[in-house]
Amino acid sequence: MGKLFGTSGVRGVVGEQVTPELAIDLGLALATHLGNSGSVVLGKDPRTSSDMLESCLISGLLSGGCDVKRLGIVPTPVVSFAVRHLGAEAGVMITASHNPPEYNGIKFWDSSGMAYTSEQEEEIEAIYFGKKLSPVAWDKIGEAESVDVIQAYMEKITGAVSLSKSYKVVVDCGNGAGALVTPYLLRKLGCKVVTLNSHLDGFFPGRGLEPSPENLGELCEVVKSVGADLGIAHDGDADRAAAVDEMGRVAQPDKLLGLISAHQLRRKGEVVVTTVDASSVVDNCVAERGGKVVRTRVGDVSVAAEIKKHRAVFGGEPSSAWIFPGVHLAPDGPLAAVKILEMLDSTGKKLSELLDALPEYPTVRQKVPCPNERKAGVMKKLVPMLKKEFPGVAEVLTIDGIRLGLKDGWVLVRPSGTEPYIRVTAEGKAPARAREMAGKAVKVLKAVVGTSS
Ligand code: MG
Repeated sequence: MGKLFGTSGVRGVVGEQVTPELAIDLGLALATHLGNSGSVVLGKDPRTSSDMLESCLISGLLSGGCDVKRLGIVPTPVVSFAVRHLGAEAGVMITASHNPPEYNGIKFWDSSGMAYTSEQEEEIEAIYFGKKLSPVAWDKIGEAESVDVIQAYMEKITGAVSLSKSYKVVVDCGNGAGALVTPYLLRKLGCKVVTLNSHLDGFFPGRGLEPSPENLGELCEVVKSVGADLGIAHDGDADRAAAVDEMGRVAQPDKLLGLISAHQLRRKGEVVVTTVDASSVVDNCVAERGGKVVRTRVGDVSVAAEIKKHRAVFGGEPSSAWIFPGVHLAPDGPLAAVKILEMLDSTGKKLSELLDALPEYPTVRQKVPCPNERKAGVMKKLVPMLKKEFPGVAEVLTIDGIRLGLKDGWVLVRPSGTEPYIRVTAEGKAPARAREMAGKAVKVLKAVVGTSS
């Protein structure tokens, strides 16, 4: 059977992988999956192709007998919120997240506000590829209406938070959907807000959409020059938030993950979920508060599923996707901004002080070319060989690649989901140790790639 969905919904270049025809059929496939009834909320980011895909999805959904609640341009987490708020059967978000402007994508949400798992996506694929699309008769066609849920979403968040003083925050929306929420949300909480790239523009002229250090130079400068307490940057659909401290430095995501994890823990034994590639700094922060870390596969859907399973208090990954299950099971950039401020408020500390109090764990990343079709075979052979190469392994995780936990660090060997590489990541207490671990793993990996066929 063919494959439509990647790690975060359907994603690709518009006119190539993502076409109007596909959007119509996916709308109809979802309606078929839902039993040709019920309502679906539909949101989009500001990409040039989003209106086009929205029209097509509406056609597909209506032709399959579902009603459509059109949210217009909203951050992805607002779709997750709206599914539950409006009592809908499912949600659809049109976005390619942090990908360049020529991309777009389609992501599905279930009635609990959680992104479709790969099993649910396979059910949609079975309908699509099996040509089991089921349109309804003329008198059963659905109805579409526009609904504004942004105010309700902001009230939900502000209702649960209060800050003891006014903070100055610079928000870099990257011309994405976050511009419609985060600046207003923070002002509602009494913050003074300075915005950058806060007009919606499907060409994203302001900066690269990934909220990573190379794209955040301007934000760092402005945070310093206006004397802000915090800088926040979103990707195109604002399901992610990166932070800049008051000194104008981009916060290392793993450290921020550790800090927020610790801040969310209220009682001993509570669980935080993170991915196999997150730093040990998360374990340190969580252990200090008597909590427990559960690791899962890379990707926000896996994190959400594990949060649900373990009733965790928080989950996040180093890609700056943070999930606060007290509100919902979707990564939420505006909510993350609020939670960071809440942490500054309750600790009374500056973000730089909190970050600098954490240990620095050097990380080494390398990659070895490997054709996609050989990855599975190589990984299978690798497990016993790596175990032999690293005696005294404390923990072996094979949920996503192979992660060997050692006394003084860890090494992760994991095939890239999108490119013909197998990646090696090693983290040690000292740079030399990280390099040594990465070197050993790369040597074994190259030997296996070289010999197996
Ligand atoms: Mg995103």
